[in-house]
Amino acid sequence: MNENEFRERFGVKAEPNYIPQDDEVGMFLAAFRSNIPMILKGPTGCGKTRFVQYMAYRLKVPLVTVSCHEDLTAADLVGRFLFKDNQTVWQPGPLTLAVRYGGLCYLDEIVEARKDTTVIIHSLTDDRRILYLDKTGEVIRAHPDFMMILSYNPGYQSIVKDLKQSTKQRFASLIFPHPCLEVETEILASETGLSREESARLAEMGSKIRELKGFGLDEGVGTRLLVYVGRLVKAGLSPLDACRCCISQTLTDEEEIMESINNIVNLYYGD
Ligand code: ADP
Repeated sequence: MNENEFRERFGVKAEPNYIPQDDEVGMFLAAFRSNIPMILKGPTGCGKTRFVQYMAYRLKVPLVTVSCHEDLTAADLVGRFLFKDNQTVWQPGPLTLAVRYGGLCYLDEIVEARKDTTVIIHSLTDDRRILYLDKTGEVIRAHPDFMMILSYNPGYQSIVKDLKQSTKQRFASLIFPHPCLEVETEILASETGLSREESARLAEMGSKIRELKGFGLDEGVGTRLLVYVGRLVKAGLSPLDACRCCISQTLTDEEEIMESINNIVNLYYGD
């Protein structure tokens, strides 16, 4: 893939709808200009991916996103040799393309990835900013527009699956909490088309459900699920049905806790 093809394939063409929570946009811009990589921490569905898409659009740089999982290896990021027409061809991975041509490389849920990815992350996130391709013997110096971004959800971390300090301390970090009521109302209104009043009610209900965290719920409801509710309501479902379907029945499998959530839902949408 040449540079133009890369830009065409990974460029963010339309402006993503992103409602800022705080000064995260300014902080990210400063980090980008200073070649400092970033970790985005926060629960699922609170806007980390949307934020990165928005920043790529703002900066007019391509965005490569890799969802990490326990089988993800260094080769999946860097590239591998493939057999094609009786020949061995080098197929660069997404990270290599971003390092070479410039762009944001977003490694989502990094702690899920295998340990051999750490070595690659380290050489790219200190002053060296290099990627060493051991299979081809090549050393690539990162493009000035290359920036590595990791996301992770501290709520899920165990001691076994945490980032090491030697990795963490190469990054600046932004925390993405659940948005405050005003911001979440704006997000819901702009993402679903519900009125401000309806969005405010939904946001308020979401914050009440979040109070159950620690009382049977491992994690409060994320904005993504509230957006789903709003969209189903717009599609004609009653708010009660939409909340049961997207919130109570999604967040837990335990009947008692489901009932506690339904009680909150009823307070807002019951007859
Ligand atoms: P994460 O990556 O943190 O799991 P996402 O960025 O995918 O979460 O957000 C989930 C959904 O919630 C988005 O698709 C969008 O509809 C909505 N959302 C969350 N935060 C924002 C925000 N700040 N501005 C606009 N939409 C948002």
